[in-house]
Amino acid sequence: APQATTVTVTGAGGQIGYGLLFRIAAGDMLGPDRPVRLRLLEIPQGLKAAEGAALELQDGAFSLLEHVEVTDDPRVAFDGCSIALLVGARPRSAGMERADLLQANAGIFGPQGAALSEVAADDIRALVVGNPANTNALIAAASAPGIPADRFSALTRLDHNRAVGQLVAELDARPDDIDGVAIWGNHSSTQFPDVSHAVFGPVKTGPDVTMVFDALAAKLGSSEAALAWLDDVFVPRVAQRGAEIIRVRGSSSAASAANAAIEHVRDEQGGVAWTSAAVVSHGEYGVPEGLVCSFPVRSDGDGYRVIEGLDLDDRARARLAASVDELVAERDAVRALGVI
Ligand code: NDP
Repeated sequence: APQATTVTVTGAGGQIGYGLLFRIAAGDMLGPDRPVRLRLLEIPQGLKAAEGAALELQDGAFSLLEHVEVTDDPRVAFDGCSIALLVGARPRSAGMERADLLQANAGIFGPQGAALSEVAADDIRALVVGNPANTNALIAAASAPGIPADRFSALTRLDHNRAVGQLVAELDARPDDIDGVAIWGNHSSTQFPDVSHAVFGPVKTGPDVTMVFDALAAKLGSSEAALAWLDDVFVPRVAQRGAEIIRVRGSSSAASAANAAIEHVRDEQGGVAWTSAAVVSHGEYGVPEGLVCSFPVRSDGDGYRVIEGLDLDDRARARLAASVDELVAERDAVRALGVI
């Protein structure tokens, strides 16, 4: 049997962690052939919840799950780990300023980056889920001198899936019939969910494929109506879906966030032709180098790469620029705090 892969989940006692652990143990992330060793990191007040989840994992009797360990020490949690899911973060509380939020999260993601750098496996890849995810990833990468920065990414796959979900509903389609959706920018309300390169139809077979935009125009009666739907319904709905879930469900999205994190890692490791993820910019599309920004990406199984060469119209450029401005402001605030 192949050697077990060590996977570390931080904030493992929380809601997203609860969804994640069972999917990982069931093989949904790394496939049915790769046994896993789970390390659950929590802060002291979260340890009991994580220990409870560990008991339930035992009760799952998962054939792929070799071992589970719960700890509040990052150096123990990340020792030999190949995949780190950084979920635990300091949430924004009422009246909290952005600088305070960034400072609190720097106190989490700085030491975690340093610990990863010291004790993780050589093939480590870390996905940041905890918000503000893009800038938390930037902080972790900057604190991990021994790890190439492009091993860190942040989750915008949930935004991507939400965008696909809205198109599926509007076009009365199936998820597999839609390809080429892109999330650009920050994982925040300034993100730009973009369908201008998206196609609709039996994508894999070809001849009946149309642009999503044309399908929307046909459905809604005109190009103007399609554009209005995108600007006034689709973009705000996707960008504010988290708040909608809280309103309806009474607590924040957890299973869908866990699902998206599973898919992010699965596709990064297994390969994918097109999805969205926040990765370290090398200057693609004019995004300043070093920012962790969401782009359309692909993977050959060795990490996400930005899909380059797409034409962006003025509307898309303006929306991307607004979200990048926010990322620059977050980075500058972190710099001003002396964190990076
Ligand atoms: P959740 O598990 O619901 O969320 C965890 C993080 O994921 C939050 O920062 C949350 O951001 C973020 N997130 C990203 N995308 C989404 C999304 N689409 N929907 C919802 N959340 C999203 O939080 P809990 O409070 O249940 O659990 C957090 C756990 O982390 C606690 O058990 C706490 O003890 C632990 N923790 C662990 C740390 C560590 O291991 N060192 C450090 C800090 C906390 P947002 O707040 O914006 O919703």
